[in-house]
Amino acid sequence: MKKHFLFTPGPTPIPPEALLAMAAPIDYHRSAEAVVIIKDVLAKLKHVFQTRNDVLLLTSSGTGAMEGALANLLSSKDRVIVIRSGKFGERWGEICSAYGIEFEPIDLEWGDSVHPQAVADLLDKRPDTKAVLSTLCETSTGALHDVQQLAQITRDRPTLLFVDAVSALGADDLQMDNWGIDVVVSCSQKGLMTPPGLGFAALNNRAWEAVEQANLPRFYFDFRKARDAGLKGSTPYTPAITFIIALQHALNRICSEGIRDVITRHARLAEATRSAAKAIGLELLASNPANTLTSIRLPEKIDGKAFVEMMRKKHGVTYAGGQEKLSGKIIRIAHLGWMCEHDVIIAISALERGLAEIGYDVPLGAGVTAAQETLIKGHPTQ
Ligand code: PMP
Repeated sequence: MKKHFLFTPGPTPIPPEALLAMAAPIDYHRSAEAVVIIKDVLAKLKHVFQTRNDVLLLTSSGTGAMEGALANLLSSKDRVIVIRSGKFGERWGEICSAYGIEFEPIDLEWGDSVHPQAVADLLDKRPDTKAVLSTLCETSTGALHDVQQLAQITRDRPTLLFVDAVSALGADDLQMDNWGIDVVVSCSQKGLMTPPGLGFAALNNRAWEAVEQANLPRFYFDFRKARDAGLKGSTPYTPAITFIIALQHALNRICSEGIRDVITRHARLAEATRSAAKAIGLELLASNPANTLTSIRLPEKIDGKAFVEMMRKKHGVTYAGGQEKLSGKIIRIAHLGWMCEHDVIIAISALERGLAEIGYDVPLGAGVTAAQETLIKGHPTQ
């Protein structure tokens, strides 16, 4: 018998009550009951985004929300800065190119995080920059960007800060209002423990003003329509109502735990995973690692692609491998969403076992011990 364990940074495991809700007969998405559900989901999303701004509900994956943000806020002659430290920072640039938006990249080694001062220096040179486009957690490397510092730089300038929190929402701290972030985008299949198919965007007042001035074409992802419909508990077009119902259950969990505690839990799981990797003798990729996932460098003699495949086939344990230039070189272990401390222990013990099986000299139990010690230290009162 094989059990499956999913440690990818999206999709993430879905709590049972959300799965069961999706098995119920489908209902009309314009019913009075659907209005109540959508209003409740939108209110609870504000808690997760740590904002009073309206959160928009889109039918798309995360990339749709990113594209929507660009199309709604920018105009054809705008110039922006794109922080590129992995696949998803690059995606911001690709969307800019598709819309003919000129951008200045800040290119970093994959695994590194941006120095906010580099952004400030660039903005001093180009004060007419319309926006800085950043990720919160760069999922391809597990690196966290300090968007709080970035917001400190942008909030007193005429430059907007866009944050791709697709993977990090609900795992790494993101205080949209307190920090002064203008635009946050995310989606359903990561920290929000729901299937892929829902995108989210939140805009502050400055960002909404930009929406009114922007001239790029938009139709399906017209944020004004999404906002107006959302206020009535509705969506401009047929919503993915099944996923919205699942999301409501997932959000109930997040809201009853409380977003601050949810983030603390993720921080603890991440710390335990990092300490385990080091105890096994492995190196971390990211210099400033996120709570969302941990990227671990594999020794050169290990074929990372084959290892990830073997773990899935033989042990039912799915880690994510490296992407693009990191393909075969790292594994990524997500501790994201519906995850508890024992899940981390499974991820680590399976890693030790798998490495030993392929002949890597791993001190069996060292990672688990380090993780347990870290987790116990995280509960000093018990
Ligand atoms: N940005 C980040 C940081 C991501 O992790 C992902 C998905 N892994 C995306 C954007 C793209 O999201 P999607 O695949 O849902 O379109």
